[in-house]
This record gives sequence, C-alpha cells and structure tokens, in this order.
Amino acid sequence: MSKGDITIKTEEEIELLRKSSLLVGRTLAEIAKILEPGVSTARLDKLAEEFILDHGAVPGFKGYGGFPSTLCISINEEVVHGIPGERIIKGGDVVSIDCGTYMNGFYGDSAYTFAVGQVAEETLQLLRITKESLYLGIEQAISGKRVGDIGYAIQSHVEQFGYGVVRDLVGHGLGRNLHEKPEVANFGRRGSGPKLQEGMVLAIEPMITLGTFKVTQDKDGWTIRTADGKPAAHFEHDIVVRKGQAEILSTFEFIEEVLKQKV
Ligand code: MG
Ligand code: MG
Repeated sequence: MSKGDITIKTEEEIELLRKSSLLVGRTLAEIAKILEPGVSTARLDKLAEEFILDHGAVPGFKGYGGFPSTLCISINEEVVHGIPGERIIKGGDVVSIDCGTYMNGFYGDSAYTFAVGQVAEETLQLLRITKESLYLGIEQAISGKRVGDIGYAIQSHVEQFGYGVVRDLVGHGLGRNLHEKPEVANFGRRGSGPKLQEGMVLAIEPMITLGTFKVTQDKDGWTIRTADGKPAAHFEHDIVVRKGQAEILSTFEFIEEVLKQKV
C-alpha cells in the first residue's frame, strides 16, 4: 500500500527490514572489535563482507551505483562514501563506517562514527552532539508530523554548537530499495515537507561538521569531504514512523557493548 510516492510498509515488511537493519548493527560491532590503529580499511571491509554473507545476506552497497565495497569508510574530514583500501587507521582518527545489507528483499542501512585512540576533545564533542541530534530527529518521526520537523530538530540542536549541517546529502526512505522517497534532510523548517504516516520507514542520518557545511567530492567520484578540512561525524538509524513514538529498527547496542569492553 502506498500513499503518494511514499511507501507504507506492512508489519511483515517491517519485520524483514528489522532483520536487515539489525544485521548492520551486528556487522558494525564486529568491525568495532578490530578497529584499532594499524588496521587497514580494506581489512575492515573484508570482515564486514564475510560477516554479512555468513548471515544469509548480501552487502547492500557493493555494486550500488557502481560503489566498489561493502562499507563506506570515511576518516576525519571525509564525511561519507569513502572507499576502503590500503589506508591504515591511525590513533586520533575519527572513522565513520556506513554499512548496508540486503536480505529477503529488503535493505538495512546504518552508520556509526568511531573515535580511535586519543581524539581531540572538540572532535569527541562533535561525535556526541551528532549522535544526540540523530535521536532528537527520531523523536519527531511520529505520525502527523512532517519531514521538515526531523530536519529542524537536528539542525537547531547542532547549530547551537556552531556546527555545520551538510546540505548536499540527506537521509531517505528505506525498503525494497536502498533509497526511497521521501528525502530526509538534516535541516529544514518545522511543519514543512511531506506528512509522516505510521508505517513509513526512514533512514535518518545527520552528517555534521566541525566547521563549514560545504563539501567537495574527490576525483574517485565517491568520497565526500569537508571543504575546510575540518572533521565530520555521521550517525544513521533506520526507523518506523509510529503513533506517539518512532520505533528504531537498527541498533548501536552491540557496537557500544564492544566499545565499553575496550575502555
Ligand atoms: Mg548509510
Ligand atoms: Mg542511508
């Protein structure tokens, strides 16, 4: 069933989306275990691909629009869509890892930004506030609100800290396709945009910068980086619009269990 261009998912479809989304959380937790100074981004990518295949799914990003890898790994001033390769992670890096899965006809899509080793306090704050803004955006994802309420909540929170909200990339509907309608910008006006209805599934993903919100794209055709070279953070959850409170389908729980044990 669909209303306009935005698909309303059945409860059966939502359960399949939950399975795909939870597998992303479990995959990112496996990555968290070996994410240390000295590891190459290619090794992280290989581990993710094997883990996803071992759990009955296929990588959601590999081959999508020609993207070559299972993970998008974006380090420091890279915002999103970094391509894994021979680059070695160093202490002090902040590493955004975005992962997609595809199983039973439905995608999962979630991202987490990790601090590796000793990271500057101002950058750690950027990570904390970006994650907070994600949850503030999710609070707005209830039936009767509008898509612009989500963006407004995210933008108004992070701009208090002087941070930039990337304009060129946005969140999206999620389902049988990785990117469905509506676009879910991380900025906006309250009460604007399409009305939210129970059963819409959205990937909400603030991409927030320490400095300018302006970004550039590398010659590789993928990697997006901040125009001023300052760090960026990116967190993403898949959610279902519900009455009164959104339901989060993806999870950071497994990731954060691993991180707690590393401290
Ligand atoms: Mg993603
Ligand atoms: Mg996404």
